[in-house]
Amino acid sequence: MTDPRYARHLPLEHWGPEGQQKLSRAKILVIGAGGLSSPALLYLAGAGVGHLTVVDPDHIDVSNLSRQVLYTEADAGRLKVEVAKERIEALNPGCRVEIHARALDEPLAKELFPRFDLILDGSDRMDCKTVINFTAHACSKPWIYASVSGWEGRILSLESRRGDSGCIRCLHPTLKDGQIDTCENQGVVGPLVGALGSLQALEAIRILLGVAKAGSRLHSIDGRTLSVLEHQLRKNPNCPVCAAKTTTAEPEEDVLSLSLGDYQKNKERYILVDLRPETEREAHPLPPGHTATAWGAPGTQEPLPELPAGKTPLLLCRRGMMAYRVQAELSGKGVSSVVLRGGMEAWIREGKS
Ligand SMILES: [Zn+2]
Repeated sequence: MTDPRYARHLPLEHWGPEGQQKLSRAKILVIGAGGLSSPALLYLAGAGVGHLTVVDPDHIDVSNLSRQVLYTEADAGRLKVEVAKERIEALNPGCRVEIHARALDEPLAKELFPRFDLILDGSDRMDCKTVINFTAHACSKPWIYASVSGWEGRILSLESRRGDSGCIRCLHPTLKDGQIDTCENQGVVGPLVGALGSLQALEAIRILLGVAKAGSRLHSIDGRTLSVLEHQLRKNPNCPVCAAKTTTAEPEEDVLSLSLGDYQKNKERYILVDLRPETEREAHPLPPGHTATAWGAPGTQEPLPELPAGKTPLLLCRRGMMAYRVQAELSGKGVSSVVLRGGMEAWIREGKS
C-alpha cells in the first residue's frame, strides 16, 4: 500500500497494510445522507473503504446545515445523494460511490443488502430502522444503529444471527408513535449527531478490521454531561424478528409487509385492519368487496379488536408508515401482523378492486 493518504494508518496495531487492504475491498451500505451519515461517509471514505452506496430521497434544506456537514448553503435544493457523491469522490477518488435517490423500502433493502459487508443506519425514522432490522437479520448482515433524540444519543451494532445477540425489535418491543422522535419534533444537537455518526464510522472500521464483532452493546451518550452508559442488549425470547428464527430450520419468509398484488392473490389468509381516521376512511373507502376492522391509531389506548382465528391481521394506513409502528406495538403483545405496503395510496394509485 503506497498511497501516502493512508500513511498514518500503517503503524497502527490491528490496521497496517493488511488492514488497509481489507478496507479497500470493503463495501458499506449507508442508509440516509443526513446528520449521522455526513461524518460517517467522510471518515469511511477518508479511511480508504473501497465502496460506499448511499440511499436517501431528500433534497438539501438550509435547516439541515447545522449538522449535515457534507453540504453548504449553495447546495440547497439539490439531492443529498448527488452532493454526497461529489464530496466523497473529491475527498478520495479511490472510493467508488453508488447512489439511490429514494427511500429505503423492503424490496430495495432485499435487493441491496446481500451485496454489502455491513449496513450503516443513518436514518431518523423508525419505519426505516424496522426495515433495516428485519432485512439485516434475514440476510445475516451486521449493521450499526444510531439514534439521537434531544440531548441523548444511542449507538449499537447488531448481528442478530449470532449467539444471544438481540435486535432492534428486542430493544423496542412495544414501540409507540413518538417514542423515537425525528429532528423536527424533538430538536437536535448538531455536534452530538456528528459524534454519533463518527462513532458509527469507527464501529464499522472496528468490525471490518476484525478488532471487534457486532456485539449488541448499547451505548447511550448524554450530551449535557458527556456521561456514557453501556448495557448489553439481550435477545427477547419472544422477539418476532430474531428469536423464532433461531429455533426453526424453515426458510425465511417475507412476513413484515405485503404488496397489494400479493394480498389480492391470497386474500383468504388475511383480515384487513384499517388504521386510518374516520375522515380518511370516508374520503377513500375500501373498494367494493373488501371489508376491514377499523382500529384507532397507536397511542389512543383502544383495545385491540377481536380478530378471527387463523387469519393474519393485515395493517392498512394511509401510506404504510404508521402501520409499521402498530406492527411493532402488536408484536410486543405477541400478535403477529403484516403491513400492506404503500397503504391506501398504493391502492388508489393502482385503481384495482
Ligand atoms: Zn429481536
